[in-house]
Order: sequence, then C-alpha cells, then structure tokens
Amino acid sequence: MRILVTGGAGFLGSHLCERLLKSGHEVICLDNFFTGHKANIEALAHFPKFEWVRHDVIDPFKAEVDRIYNLACPASPIHYQLNPIKTIKTSVVGAINCLGLAKRTRARILQASTSEVYGDPEISPQVESYRGNVNPIGIRACYDEGKRCAEALFFDYHRQNGVDIRVIRIFNTYGPRMNVNDGRVVSNFIVQALRHEPITLYGDGSQTRSFCYVDDLIDGMVRFMDQDTETGPVNFGNPHEFTMRKLAETVIRLTQSRSQIVNLPLPNDDPKQRCPNIDKAKQLLGWEPKVALEEGLQKTILYFKSIL
Ligand code: NAD
Ligand code: UDP
Repeated sequence: MRILVTGGAGFLGSHLCERLLKSGHEVICLDNFFTGHKANIEALAHFPKFEWVRHDVIDPFKAEVDRIYNLACPASPIHYQLNPIKTIKTSVVGAINCLGLAKRTRARILQASTSEVYGDPEISPQVESYRGNVNPIGIRACYDEGKRCAEALFFDYHRQNGVDIRVIRIFNTYGPRMNVNDGRVVSNFIVQALRHEPITLYGDGSQTRSFCYVDDLIDGMVRFMDQDTETGPVNFGNPHEFTMRKLAETVIRLTQSRSQIVNLPLPNDDPKQRCPNIDKAKQLLGWEPKVALEEGLQKTILYFKSIL
C-alpha cells in the first residue's frame, strides 16, 4: 500500500514510518519540521519506497494514497503553547484537509488523538465512554479542544461521507527519538539526569501519569489501522500509573546521576491523574503493552547518552 504519514518526522511518526517500510509499504512522510527533525528520518532514506515532503497540513495537499495516518501536531505542552492559534489550526484545518483527501481517494484514515480529550479526569482509569473534563479557555485548550474538534470531524466525515476512519487516543508515550528539547517529562528528566543538572519537578510531584514505550504504541496503532470492524475511539497506553516524583527518583537511580530534584510551580490545568483503561484494545486486538517501565527507560537513556 501507499501510505501517507503526516507528522512523519516527529517522535512517533518516524517510528511509524520505519515500521511501515519494514512491512514493505510505500511511505510518504509529510512534515513541516516544527518539532520534527530530518535526523529522525535520515536512516529511512535507504528505503527505495520512502519519500518525504516539507508541507504544512493546514494547506491542502494532493496525493494518491491507500491509507493516511494523521499525526501532525506538536505534542509537548511547551511547543503546542508556543503558538496556540497555529496548534488549533493544525488539529482542525489539518484534519479537514486529511479527511478531504481520504474522501477523494477512499483511503482509510487514522487520527492520532490523545488522552488530553479527557482533560483533568474525574474518573480513573479513563474509559473511552468518559466525556472528559476539559477547561475550554485554558492554556491547554488549544491542544485539547483542537483534538476534540478533530475527533468530531472524523466522526462527521464518517457519518456524512462514509469515510473509513480509525480514531485512537494515545496516552503518554516515550522512547528514543524524542527531542532533547522536547520538554515532556521523560526526556526532560533523562537529559537533566545525564547532565547532572537539577531535575525540574513541577508542583509537589504527586500528579500521576502512565507511560507507554514507543514500540508497544506503534504496534497497537498499526494493528488497529489494519482491523476492519471498529472505528474507535480506542485508548492506547500503559495502565501502570505512578507519580512524577517516583519517575524522577527512578531516572536518577537508573542513570546513577548526581542530580537533585527541585520543585517548580505546577503549570495551569496540569491534569492530576491519568491512566488508561485498555480493555477495548485488549478485547479487539489482544493488545497490551509488553515493555516494562524500567526496561523502556533503559533503552531511552541509552539513546540520549548516544546523542548528548
Ligand atoms: P512530535 O512533536 O514529535 O511530532 C509531531 C510532528 O508533527 C512533528 O514532526 C512536527 O514537525 C509535525 N507537525 C506539527 N505541526 C505540523 C503542521 N502544521 N504540518 C505538518 N507537520 C506538522 O510529537 P509526537 O509525540 O510524535 O506525537 C505525534 C502525534 O501523536 C501528535 O498528533 C500527538 O498529538 C499525538 N499524541 C502523542 C502522544 C505522546 O505521548 N507521544 C500522546 C498523545 C497523542
Ligand atoms: N513535568 C515535570 N517536569 C518537567 C516536565 C513535566 O514535573 O520537566 C510534569 C508535568 O507537570 C506533568 C507530567 O510531568 O504533570 C507530564 O508532563 P508532560 O509535559 O510530559 O505531558 P502531559 O501529560 O502533561 O501532557
């Protein structure tokens, strides 16, 4: 198949392109390189079936494709808050452009949605039927509401135009090829620990997240795209939940770092807890994460050691 991956030069997108190429597909990677990097896709250049194009999803584009994975959107709070209006346009206008392309080419299209559609959740773990607790006017709204609107667009294109959609809600995922300056917690803590710099723990560190290693996530994403019955939304993530203080301590231990933890103010609207209920993915695909946190952190630490 010929497959378009928007945001293909980013962290998840580059792993996805690699997986698809190794399965024998032709891959077009589309990216504006806002948070993505050529270094992430350089290793893919030797695949004859790989091409990349510098393009912004808020502008329409034409290609004859069989499948579309729509990943274009900055995912780290510091990057998506840098130009929030652009973030909304990327999610909303980008979704309209991708869905228009899917409609014309009759391609199956997958949306990389997010656990952020649940906002600061009042129930835990979060099930797909939970409608969320998002502050629509806060500093995270550009991302959360942009992604929620994109989900609405996907289901309306499905109902109104019969577009073959797949929607996944990704929970915090980490691994090699995260950018040194990405700003998300796992890469921040590892880079700070390897440099023996202070570990920046926001708030008192009692907020929780649950982290999925990239290989597990990509495996679930591709398997969900390939099945023929379910549109989603389906949660993909690792249900092992822990506090950010525990994460900081674990990273310090694994890197044998001399870093000290410093507490910085908690950003506005920072969700207090987040943990996926993955029963739906389990029942549909028999999918669940295989890589334990410390194993995934070790691999990620090795990656950052190699590039720092
Ligand atoms: P990332 O920032 O590394 O990758 C995003 C990619 O999209 C980058 O290559 C960036 O340059 C590109 N991009 C941004 N705006 C664009 C635009 N207007 N036009 C074209 N390209 C554009 O982030 P990631 O972690 O790889 O996330 C990929 C997708 O998965 C995002 O849509 C994100 O919302 C979603 N997601 C990721 C996570 C996670 O934990 N990694 C969690 C939930 C959802
Ligand atoms: N965080 C932190 N220090 C950092 C970066 C993030 O303590 O240097 C916290 C952040 O406040 C949040 C959690 O780690 O509670 C996860 O943040 P991240 O930006 O990775 O993703 P989020 O899940 O908030 O979108």
